[in-house]
Amino acid sequence: MKKQVAIVEEILSANDRLAAQNRSQLDAAGVLGLNIMASPGAGKTSVILRTIQALAPHFRLGVVEGDTAPVTIDADKIISAGMPAVQINTGGQCHLDAVMLANALPQLPLADLDLLIVENVGNLICPAGFSLGTHRNVVIASVPEGDDKPYKYPNIYRGIDALILNKIDLLPYIEFDPDYFRRGITLLNPGVTFFELSCRTGQGFPAWAGWLRQQMEHHS
Ligand code: MG
Ligand code: ZN
Repeated sequence: MKKQVAIVEEILSANDRLAAQNRSQLDAAGVLGLNIMASPGAGKTSVILRTIQALAPHFRLGVVEGDTAPVTIDADKIISAGMPAVQINTGGQCHLDAVMLANALPQLPLADLDLLIVENVGNLICPAGFSLGTHRNVVIASVPEGDDKPYKYPNIYRGIDALILNKIDLLPYIEFDPDYFRRGITLLNPGVTFFELSCRTGQGFPAWAGWLRQQMEHHS
């Protein structure tokens, strides 16, 4: 009789353990957690504000704003739009981690929310290495950043569920090959869902909001 080989135990890092606890808290409250990553200036906060409009009045959103400096500019904009927001000052650290999100969650009325959007620190490198416990990961790229980003920063695109190409209204004015860009991302992540958005014109927001509604329905 063959002896059963001991199964290798998976050792979760401290961050991953806490991320799992964050996930349980969101699940218990029936909240879909979304981690939004992007480089600085891609339009994260503007997309979030337009998303609030697109989902109103049927869904309630909360926002966690990650910033490296103690400025509340982005959180203030969310609060002005009528949704609860918590500012995390990372003290210079260039990404959010599960500990920071764990500290922010008790400051939000989770039981009243349908969707929690976490705006990560603007950075295309290390946010990919720290799971937060959110259900979906999204990267926002923007036309002015150039079409070569997936080739230069591959890791950030690998684990994501959706890719937003923002500022699509600038396409006529900037050299940007959408096919080259898309090909780079599909090579890294064939299953990713693409959205093209413009916060100026509102283009693409019905499709993006539709996807979010679908994710809120089945997010476990
Ligand atoms: Mg912002
Ligand atoms: Zn970092």
